[in-house]
Amino acid sequence: MADDCIFCRIVDGDIPAQVVHQDDRALVFRDVNPQAPTHLLVIPRRHVVSVDHLSPDDEALAGHLLLTAGTAARSLGLEEDGYRVVTNIGRDGGQTVSHLHLHVLGGRSLGWPPG
Ligand code: AMP
Repeated sequence: MADDCIFCRIVDGDIPAQVVHQDDRALVFRDVNPQAPTHLLVIPRRHVVSVDHLSPDDEALAGHLLLTAGTAARSLGLEEDGYRVVTNIGRDGGQTVSHLHLHVLGGRSLGWPPG
């Protein structure tokens, strides 16, 4: 756990979250400020800052997070009309929480390219 990491505190149960899926390596919960009718965050239980901080040893974890995003999306029926999985990295990427997370967005048509 990293000091002052809000997502580590969610993993530890210190801060409440609307959890929709969890297992030994990952947690999926609803974004507190949703940008689409369904907006989930998929995070590793272990503190990793971003995709840019993954190492070759994290290959299985990275794959697991992506598969978990799909599992969570399907559990909410998003696969029928489609959805988006995106991760922000660093300042220019728009990352505001320094704990790796995949956004899963669905339930409306999403514009492209992002701003
Ligand atoms: P990013 O800007 O890509 O780092 O995404 C961080 C996301 O975390 C934002 O969409 C926030 O709305 C969301 N967020 C921040 N705090 C919480 C929280 N306590 N519970 C759920 N989502 C949160």
